[in-house]
Amino acid sequence: MPKIAIVGAGPSGCYVAQALLKLDKTLEVDILDRLPVPYGLVRYGVAPDHQGTKAVSRQFARLFERQGVRFIGNVTLGETVTLDELRAAYDVVVLALGLSKDRELDLPGRDLAGITGAGAVTRHWNDHPDEAAQVPHLGNRVVIVGQGNVAMDVLRILAKQEPDFDGSDLHPRHTDHITGAGVAQIDILGRSPAHEAKFDPVMVKELAKLEHVRFALDGIELSQGHDDDPRVAAVTALPQDVPVASHEVTFRFGWKPERLSGEEGRVSAAYFSRGDEELGLSCDSVITAIGFDSHIPGLRDDLLAQAEDRETGVVDKGLYLAGWFCRGPRGTIPDNRLAAQDLATRIVADLATGQATGQTTGQATGQGGEKPGRAALVATHPDLTDYDGWLRIDAAELAACTDGRVRAKVADLETLLALACAPAPGPATPETDE
Ligand SMILES: Cc1cc2nc3c(=O)[nH]c(=O)nc-3n(C[C@H](O)[C@H](O)[C@H](O)COP(=O)(O)OP(=O)(O)OC[C@H]3O[C@@H](n4cnc5c(N)ncnc54)[C@H](O)[C@@H]3O)c2cc1C
Repeated sequence: MPKIAIVGAGPSGCYVAQALLKLDKTLEVDILDRLPVPYGLVRYGVAPDHQGTKAVSRQFARLFERQGVRFIGNVTLGETVTLDELRAAYDVVVLALGLSKDRELDLPGRDLAGITGAGAVTRHWNDHPDEAAQVPHLGNRVVIVGQGNVAMDVLRILAKQEPDFDGSDLHPRHTDHITGAGVAQIDILGRSPAHEAKFDPVMVKELAKLEHVRFALDGIELSQGHDDDPRVAAVTALPQDVPVASHEVTFRFGWKPERLSGEEGRVSAAYFSRGDEELGLSCDSVITAIGFDSHIPGLRDDLLAQAEDRETGVVDKGLYLAGWFCRGPRGTIPDNRLAAQDLATRIVADLATGQATGQTTGQATGQGGEKPGRAALVATHPDLTDYDGWLRIDAAELAACTDGRVRAKVADLETLLALACAPAPGPATPETDE
């Protein structure tokens, strides 16, 4: 029975498992993750007020609940286990580690305090243990650099008021922090004209529902002749005539970021250019939403450099890459599905021809040529967690929610691990007379 380890329990890892089992139900598939919780950016990236999108995790849960896939948490590739160890234990290893490092704004002043990447901010709001203690500085005037969908998520959360978070899983401590900061003016800037902006119009239409927000547009004239473009239509439909507004949001198009300046080490102004024009915006904080780093020295770059087929994610027989870790930090959750199907087809074909042996590094297989799979991991790493552990975390979070929220996420790793490792209540021991 071929044994497959997928490292990374985000959408790509889950879609690869789904596609593999559709092709061959007999495969033994384990999904490993550094955290004791599955689903990657579905839990830690997708906005807390987009529960409909997060619901894709219910589809992935079937893998563990009905299709025999094992979740193995608290195992970090490169720390707990090496790639060579995994390849020795499994016939096939798929790396679906995602890419989470915010791309930095490479400008003078970038090291000032008060400048935060949107990935870090959204991880903080989503209670990722790595970011739990990194409370982003906000203040009254926030400048958002970038106009993609992640920028729209950040803008929407900053512009919402408390009742708007009903039905979300944004913890009240985050809304207290946002409202406590008194965010009142948000400028959101992009280099492109509105008709070439990266956001989906539906994200802007969602903003129009916030009745307490007054919108303004700068640079919409750059989209003259593009009135029918859905992005232009969406921004021009934003309510500008709001008599009483708690928040002012200005969409500024065509502005190139130039530099940031500060006082006492903290950002206080952001400067932009558009042709000969210069724009200086006073601000208390800057959130950069300009994408994620795709060049990570080390494992990913090395594997891509030696990949046999970068497009599909074949490094060599028995070692494959999937999702953002393979294709770079672009694309939605459903985009990962098609790519996962192509990759699974390739893996199953390699297994059928006996090519995906995972022996290219020259490691010995287990007894009788059969690899040990998870048994090798469990034997050497007693702290691994499992799907039942995640169910205990899930139950605790659902039980703890208040204030109209649907879940109160646990943000610190220690508590997550304590819940995941707590022994499941066993059957009552019958009392004996002796
Ligand atoms: C802020 C944000 C919001 C988004 N919102 C949406 C949205 O609303 N709708 C939508 O369709 N798409 C959205 N996306 C895109 C979507 O999240 C991605 O397409 C998708 O998550 C990529 O999946 P992945 O499995 O490749 O990576 P990830 O989801 O990042 O999963 C990678 C997994 O690998 C694990 N891992 C990392 N390193 C290691 C290691 N060394 N050892 C073991 N495990 C490791 C991580 O813990 C994680 O679980 C959003 C992205 C971001 C950043």
